[in-house]
Amino acid sequence: MKTYDLIIVGSGPAGMTASIYAARANLSVLMLDKLAPGGQIVNTNEIQNYTGMGTINGAELAIQMYQHTQELNVEFDYRTVEEVKEENGLKLVCCKEDGAVYAARAVILATGTRPRTLGVENEKKYAGNGISWCAICDGAACRGQDVVVIGGGNSAVEESIYLAEIVKSLTIVTMFDLTADPMACDKLRAMDHVTIYPYQDVLEFYGDKKLQGIHFKSTKDDGTERRLDCDKVFEYIGLTPTTECFQSLGVLNKMGYVEVDEHMATKLPGVFGAGDCITKNLRQVITACADGAIAAQSAAHYIQSTFKR
Ligand SMILES: Cc1cc2nc3c(=O)[nH]c(=O)nc-3n(C[C@H](O)[C@H](O)[C@H](O)COP(=O)(O)OP(=O)(O)OC[C@H]3O[C@@H](n4cnc5c(N)ncnc54)[C@H](O)[C@@H]3O)c2cc1C
Repeated sequence: MKTYDLIIVGSGPAGMTASIYAARANLSVLMLDKLAPGGQIVNTNEIQNYTGMGTINGAELAIQMYQHTQELNVEFDYRTVEEVKEENGLKLVCCKEDGAVYAARAVILATGTRPRTLGVENEKKYAGNGISWCAICDGAACRGQDVVVIGGGNSAVEESIYLAEIVKSLTIVTMFDLTADPMACDKLRAMDHVTIYPYQDVLEFYGDKKLQGIHFKSTKDDGTERRLDCDKVFEYIGLTPTTECFQSLGVLNKMGYVEVDEHMATKLPGVFGAGDCITKNLRQVITACADGAIAAQSAAHYIQSTFKR
């Protein structure tokens, strides 16, 4: 079995940036992802806050990042990582496909997050069939429809602005008030055919074979309940770390995020974390890239000092 200096699990902005820094530090690098490189930005319409880019389509930025890794000959493979473990001072990365196992001197965990779900009545029934978690994937099919977005954070507001251009009516139902960037909130509030219901609890989705609407209740005043007919719902209510495959390493906190210090090092020597899956306050492309750069540099120092290459 070939032993790499570094294996990076996840090829979102964090993993790809880590691979660029690692390749430039002359490490042999393998980057693994169960999907195409790019992570969450592949399904993001416009990114407007990545320094120097102005406004850029997420998929386009993903392609540019991947091309950059390929200019440095970073090895990439499509693999679903199921476990990372230690054996004889090396990290073994175990994958679902063909039971493949790869060995490395160090590993960077950069598997990001996935959308959280509400867990209310009929959510599972209409998942993928009326309820979506991706406006870029499913928004175009909503032309002329009545659409509801659940959530009030940055993702909910950004995706609402995108959807409002397409749909007949857009209703935002959120647990608190809008908490996104004030500029984005102002833009959304000023749009035609947008209605916002803050301080609401979603009770259930209703319909027959097809989703017909959403039932929610005010958490303020008299607890007014509303049943709102709609064609489609998009949920943007937060994120869950995609870190189940790292459970046995013992480097996750109670919420499942990878615990790291300022060098992106976990408590396990040679195991580093980067991007949205680590404990931090701001989960954005630019912070994911910064984490990736730091993690790769720390991994390079670790490999130099531990394996005296
Ligand atoms: C709708 C939406 C809009 C957004 N808009 C913006 C914006 O405008 N500006 C901004 O800066 N940020 C935005 N973000 C946030 C930004 O996308 C993330 O902060 C960033 O993508 C995090 O990068 P990452 O590399 O840490 O993780 P991710 O992008 O999540 O990438 C993780 C990768 O790991 C892979 N992976 C997971 N588990 C495994 C496994 N077991 N085996 C192999 N591979 C695995 C995944 O397939 C994925 O490719 C947005 C996010 C969303 C959801």
